[in-house]
Amino acid sequence: MAGTQTALTVALEQLKIASQELKLDSGLHDMLAHPKRSLIVSITVKMDDGKIRVFSGCRVQHWDARGPFKGGIRYHPNVTLDEVTALAMWMTWKCAVVDIPYGGAKGGVCCNPKEMSKGELERMTRRFTSLLFDFIGPYRDVPAPDVYTDAQTMAWIMDTYSQITGYSVPGCVTGKPISIGGSEGRAEATSLGVVVCAREAAKHLGIKLKGATVAVQGYGNVGWNAAKIAYDLGSKIVAVSDSMGGIYAPNGLNPYAVYEHKTKTGSVINYKESKSISNEEILETKCDILIPAALENQITKANADKIKAKIVAEGANGPTTPDADKALHEKEIVLIPDILANSGGVATSYYEWVQNLTREHWALEDVNRKLESKMVKAFNDVYKISQKEESDMRTAALILGVGRVAEAIKTLGLWP
Ligand code: NAD
Repeated sequence: MAGTQTALTVALEQLKIASQELKLDSGLHDMLAHPKRSLIVSITVKMDDGKIRVFSGCRVQHWDARGPFKGGIRYHPNVTLDEVTALAMWMTWKCAVVDIPYGGAKGGVCCNPKEMSKGELERMTRRFTSLLFDFIGPYRDVPAPDVYTDAQTMAWIMDTYSQITGYSVPGCVTGKPISIGGSEGRAEATSLGVVVCAREAAKHLGIKLKGATVAVQGYGNVGWNAAKIAYDLGSKIVAVSDSMGGIYAPNGLNPYAVYEHKTKTGSVINYKESKSISNEEILETKCDILIPAALENQITKANADKIKAKIVAEGANGPTTPDADKALHEKEIVLIPDILANSGGVATSYYEWVQNLTREHWALEDVNRKLESKMVKAFNDVYKISQKEESDMRTAALILGVGRVAEAIKTLGLWP
């Protein structure tokens, strides 16, 4: 964490910038600065040793003027209500930027999933779902995976929700396994969107994805899939990392082999024919495209000057602080902001939800074709605003996202 910056102070600062650019009145700005509802729950779980533990969890629903709430659930020891509030706010802007009919939400449980058994995680997830039951659902709020939650977690949520409802409700979560109504392409969607955005930005800089050098921080769902997709398109993956550290190979890594190594050993570190680097060094790697795909506040005022990439495509939410944004813009580094770059995940979640509600199952090519054209449109919408306003891409994306939400709130009016 850099100084006193937290995800929430960053999100509020970004909103302030957008409100000023959009000349929003102070009342509307205040509305958008506060979530509509924050639910805090205590999740009681019987652990494998028979002892009871209580975990703190929350679900923050930011604004739903454009459609039901939507957003991931994160399991992490550092989860706080403030962090989840920031993530919910970013979801609201993100859904608006990529133009899908959802509002923003996020959930989190303060726990260390690495130290819990599968049975403990299942019991915690089911109890959490029961506590959220009245506030979620296919037309209210639709959770999805985030850090340290996955398709299995979504299956437990769907089953618990369906058991309490009395019939199967696949549309109550997205990011499910395909066997129970998940969409083709959902697992890779966030990363495909990141790579499509990086490709579009690269075109403007005269860089071809084929042969471009790429560094990826974080080797989970978003990071590993982004490395794989970029590699399949001919890019050279020169460095990757996870929570244990990073690896660097100037001649390129094979991301499939690195993934296999991580699956076997638990980390990317100690991969053959690579040099160990730290998580700070990976951000400073000389490359064309840097993809932060881990956690918030990674590129800060302290290291922005050392970033050597030409394009930063934010796979993670909130990896760059506002002062670092400024520094990167001054260095003419093109930063594709999270609310645009990683919106492919929620876009395909939307396709999954539509398939669930209409009881359809679309082919992978159809899902990816729709996703790619949505991402290209969103990228161009943001790029055009950045050219017109002579702003960085983050400010442009905020102008678009916050502007669309503000417009919807104004159109709906305030009840009562
Ligand atoms: P994940 O749990 O699958 O992976 C997280 C990865 O980050 C792991 O490899 C972990 O080892 C690594 N990591 C954790 N702490 C780190 C540190 N300090 N330094 C370097 N690496 C570290 O999570 P994910 O779903 O890939 O999410 C990653 C980011 O992408 C998060 O910011 C998340 O909010 C965002 N995101 C995810 C999705 C999605 O569809 N999963 C969509 C949009 C945004």
